[in-house]
Amino acid sequence: VTACLDRIAATEPDINAFTSVQGEAALAQAKAMDAAGPDATKPLWGVPVSVKDILATKGAPTTCSSRILENFVPFYDATAVARLREAGAIIIGKTNMDEFAMGSSTENSAFGPTRNPWDTNRVPGGSSGGSAASVAARQCFGSLGTDTGGSIRQPASFCGCVGVKPTYGRVSRYGCVAYASSLDQIGPLTRTVPDAALMLSVIAGHDQRDSTSVDCPVPDYAAAIAARADLKGLRIGMPEEYWSEGLAPEVETACRAAMDRARELGATPVPVRLPHTKFAVATYYIVAMAEASSNLARFDGVRYGLRDKDATDLIDMYVSSRSKGFGTEVKRRIMLGTYVLSAGYYDAYYRKAAQVRRLIRQDFLDAFEQCDVICGPASPVTAWGIGEKTADPLQMYLMDIFTISLNLAGLPGVSIPVGLGADSGMPVGLQLLGPAFGEDTLLATADALMR
Ligand code: GLN
Repeated sequence: VTACLDRIAATEPDINAFTSVQGEAALAQAKAMDAAGPDATKPLWGVPVSVKDILATKGAPTTCSSRILENFVPFYDATAVARLREAGAIIIGKTNMDEFAMGSSTENSAFGPTRNPWDTNRVPGGSSGGSAASVAARQCFGSLGTDTGGSIRQPASFCGCVGVKPTYGRVSRYGCVAYASSLDQIGPLTRTVPDAALMLSVIAGHDQRDSTSVDCPVPDYAAAIAARADLKGLRIGMPEEYWSEGLAPEVETACRAAMDRARELGATPVPVRLPHTKFAVATYYIVAMAEASSNLARFDGVRYGLRDKDATDLIDMYVSSRSKGFGTEVKRRIMLGTYVLSAGYYDAYYRKAAQVRRLIRQDFLDAFEQCDVICGPASPVTAWGIGEKTADPLQMYLMDIFTISLNLAGLPGVSIPVGLGADSGMPVGLQLLGPAFGEDTLLATADALMR
């Protein structure tokens, strides 16, 4: 804990990965644990980790990087956080993010952007950019992020970390501030695949407080990794839609080299198709914004956080609290989400998107008839410059093309670092996508590739 806090003190002025650091509490906890002695029943005993500021932490601020929750301190832990603590982990701080997880660069934060530790002129990706940066900058040993449309996998790829987006329902969302409830999942960002496996084993599993968490046994992911030394017999699907034009040459080169390694380890690449990929960005942004507009209605100045004290009546109080509390991107999404749900447009937009979502899921089900794992780049490009894409939100949305289909389909994915891009010198991430509850195979494949 001391080493991590020293590292935080030395690097935070450049990186800004944290919205708050619970240094004293972490040290006190570590001292108490030292005094009591090691506990072999706790798999994360004494390991300092960070947590994205969208997850409720008892007694510590939970801001979602928004002014509207600036002073909000929950009186309970999210289930995933509670499970980390029960496993002996020490939470050293809350990490910066795009406000309410809306973004792909961690620039939409009320507390300033996070910078990529590999090159501080570049973004760390997002929305879990603070989590990825805190791991990459060696400020902690692992972090919890959330992935609604790539927000674990893409920042992991931009910062050279491992990121896991579990199957929808694998990890309880209790205590995770909802962005798009049918897409959100919590997962780990770590330096290595075994670390991710360990964290996932701890946080996964049914929780009676989240009715969408699935009641099926949690495999020992670390054991699943250890059991697989090579990739013999594994069929890896390569969707032509993910390995096509629009991909930066440096990303393609690094990802193809990883595929060569998979072949050497015994895997067989098979061409597959995900034909509805071209509709994924439009579909995702309709579904996500619709759900966000509904979820964010709870921030009314009454129940949580910021309230405009100068308001003259109740409606004025709602309007001015929300106007002052939410940032530009959040407002844009609430308006678009409200629009696609409105009576005259529901059928044309929301219902249509829900139908296309079903087709996107079917693409994956069909592809998994022919392969065990699907593989492709996590992002078409490596980390871009700070400020480079902020003027044009659509440009930013289009960068999510490879990550968002998976959330619409509810399936798991793992992003692993596969080297540095020859042009930018920045990390490149390869993602492995699997069938529902196929995290064990994904992690074993990822580990074999990274060894
Ligand atoms: N970039 C996507 C968005 O802005 C994904 C974010 C996420 O996964 N939370 O919605």
